[in-house]
Parts: sequence; structure tokens; C-alpha cells
Amino acid sequence: MFDKEIGVNVCRLHSDDGAHVLGRSPVVTVMGHVDHGKTSLLDALRQTSLAAKEAGGITQHLGAFVVGMQSGASITFLDTPGHAAFSAMRARGAAVTDIVVLVVAADDGVMPQTLEAMSHAKAGNVPIVVAINKCDKPDANPERVKVQLAAEGLLLEEMGGDVQVVEVSAINEVGLDKLEDALLLQAELMDLKARVDGPAQAYVVEARLDKGRGPLATAIVKAGTLVCGQHVVVGAEWGRIRSIRDMARKVIAEARPAMPIEIEGLKGLPMAGDDIVVVESEERARMLSEGRKKKFEKDRLTKLEEERPKASEEEEEEDETKPERVEVPLIVKADVQGTVQAVTDAVKNLNSSQVFLKVIHAGVGPVSQSDIDMAQACGACIVGFNVRDPPSSIALAATQAKVKIKLHRVIYHLLEDIGNFIVEKAPGTL
Ligand code: GDP
Repeated sequence: MFDKEIGVNVCRLHSDDGAHVLGRSPVVTVMGHVDHGKTSLLDALRQTSLAAKEAGGITQHLGAFVVGMQSGASITFLDTPGHAAFSAMRARGAAVTDIVVLVVAADDGVMPQTLEAMSHAKAGNVPIVVAINKCDKPDANPERVKVQLAAEGLLLEEMGGDVQVVEVSAINEVGLDKLEDALLLQAELMDLKARVDGPAQAYVVEARLDKGRGPLATAIVKAGTLVCGQHVVVGAEWGRIRSIRDMARKVIAEARPAMPIEIEGLKGLPMAGDDIVVVESEERARMLSEGRKKKFEKDRLTKLEEERPKASEEEEEEDETKPERVEVPLIVKADVQGTVQAVTDAVKNLNSSQVFLKVIHAGVGPVSQSDIDMAQACGACIVGFNVRDPPSSIALAATQAKVKIKLHRVIYHLLEDIGNFIVEKAPGTL
């Protein structure tokens, strides 16, 4: 049966060691090389989602969506493509993804990030379903892609392995049903189940600040049931759940496994990958949150220290002529917490033995006066990803403070532009 209110597959209810265990929907992440069509594929799938159907095709990016099948089964898609978000979540211990859709463009074939995505899936022990995209293109060559993937060690079904391959066109919305079927088949093989009763165990997949409603977190329940009114600790934040909404923005009283929900009532903005723990009282929630905040700050400082160049005294003496590693301060702003983290991680990959990009502040929302003040004080550059252009007063303040603001909507352009800033700040280091 498909429970519309719950929005997930609830077909097999049975008991295991006394606990109620439920067959649950798979949670899917889309990965692949840049420009191979991850975003387009998610857009096309989102149009077939329950929320889109209820809202007449209009949907908002909330971090996750559910696609329901005629059969009553359903699939939960995480709406932030790419392995940066996937690995950031995994690094925080949030193994939310059950299946990875590996998107490979039929005209371009296997590329470096295709291989990276494969490694991430393998490291996470997450099975892959391949979507060969752009099959509508005249120079599409799906067979070549299959040979390439097989050569990289992916055991494709048609070659006797167990990795399913589906040919699709995200733009023409062709093959989406086949992809969904393949995902359900994979899920069935995995026999995904979760405990339904008892306190929820859930993870944040995205968080944003709403002007009227405060911090909002999109989360996926992994086990148990999350109930409105409960006190929770989320990462280092805490709160009392004021409302739970499903992805169609409908207020619901409780949420079950694999169901993406939006929760309201947190005191601060959590991060993608943060766990949600239900506690019995406000006092306990506050206490746990304070403890975690202290621990996270300590961990952050230790990490920062570890990332600094470590030159031994001998090396320092020997190498007085060698140029020092140049520290380039940055402030990162992005539309949602998931992207803030993905951008921060991507920026760190630019670090080298000569350059250390120090993210002095990272946050959600457009560039503000306080960002400019901080940037001016530290000589930092502000980079914005998917954020609105600042109002003219802020732009003027930045010019007066001689603070550079770099806004982009494509991560590679952003990284390229940071490269330019490095060249300016530390010539000869790139
Ligand atoms: P991403 O970087 O992997 O998220 O890729 P995008 O979804 O942004 O797509 C990159 C480009 O490929 C865009 O110009 C899309 O319009 C185009 N594209 C995506 N899917 C298809 C497809 O199925 N067919 C064709 N012909 N173009 C596609």
C-alpha cells in the first residue's frame, strides 16, 4: 500500500525481535562528472515527484524529494548532486544514501569525476545504478560508455555482473521510468528495512534560514518515528520541533523512516550530515547542545592547526630562502547549508604546499554588511555560491572597503575565480 500522508513505501510490516520493522524506500544520491546532466536528471525526476504533482508541477529545492510509483512503492532522492555533498555527509557519519545513480553522458563517456564518484560509492559500500544520459544526442555512444565502465571494474548486468545500466535523456524525459524501476529492483535486492517504533534517528540533508520561520532543516528519518513537539539535539544545535512538513509542505504530526521532512523549531542552523537525536527534556537538549558545541569548536581548532603547514625547526633553518606558505583568507556564502559545506570542502582542495586557503567564516544567505566588515578586517575575499546579488548599498560598502565579492552559480567557475584571487594575493604560487 502507498501511504500518501507518510509518503513512503509501507508494504511489509512484520516483527523482528519484538520490534516493528518496516520495508522502507531507498534513499538515492545522483553523482557523476560535471555537465553530464546530474542537475537536469534531478529536475526531470523532481517533476514526477509527489510534491510536484500536488503543487501542480511547481517545486522548490528543499534538499530531497519523493517519487511515488503506480505500484505504491516510492523512492527518496537527495537533491544535491555531486560527491562533495555525499562525502561531506559521510565524513560526518551520516550514511543516508542507499543507492548511487552514476550519471555518465553518452557523448562524453567516463571522465575523472565519474571515477571519483565510483570510488566514493565503493568506499561507502553503496551500490551503483548507471544512468547513461544524453542518449538523444546524435553522437551518443552508450555502448562505448559501457565498455569504459567495465574496463574500470564496474560489473555491468549485461556482462554478467549485478550493476544495472539504464539509457536516459534527462532533457527529453526519456527512460526515467526505467531508471526508477531499476532503483526499485536494486532496493528490493537490498531488502531495506527500518525500525518504526521508538525514538527517531534522523539526519539533516540541508538547512536554511527562513525570515519568518527561523532555522529550517530538511531531514531524513533513518529509523523510528519523529513526532512534533519532541525535544531534539541536532548536531550542536537544539530545539523543540514546532512543526513537521512533508515535501509537499503539508503539516504532518509524525515522520517515519525514509521520509524527507522539513522541521521547524531549532534554535540555530544545523549542517548537512548532522544527526537528530530525540531527548526527553529541554534541559537535557540544552546541556547536550552546549557540550557538543564545545567539542566541535575544539575539533575545529585542532583540524585548523593540523591543516597548517608543519615545518620542523631543521627545515625552517635550512629553508630560510624558500618562500613561506601564503595564507589566503576567504569568506564563503551559499544558498543552503549543504552547499556551504560542499563549497568549503572544494576550496580546501585548492590548498597546496605554497598556499593555504583559510575559510574564516562560512554561512548561509546573501553577502551582508558583517561579512564585509569581517573581510575588511582580515583582508579576505568573499565568495558566494548560488546567492542573490547583494543590494547596491552592500555592493557600495564592499567597494569602499576594497573587499572583493565573487559570486558564481557554477562551482568550477567559482574555483577558477578563487584561483585568480590566489594569483593576485600570492603571485607565482599556482
Ligand atoms: P551537471 O553539471 O552534471 O549537473 O549537468 P547539467 O544538468 O547542468 O547539464 C549540463 C548540460 O547538459 C546542460 O546544458 C544540459 O542542458 C545538458 N543536458 C543535460 N541532460 C541532457 C540530455 O539528456 N540531453 C542533452 N542533449 N543535453 C542534456
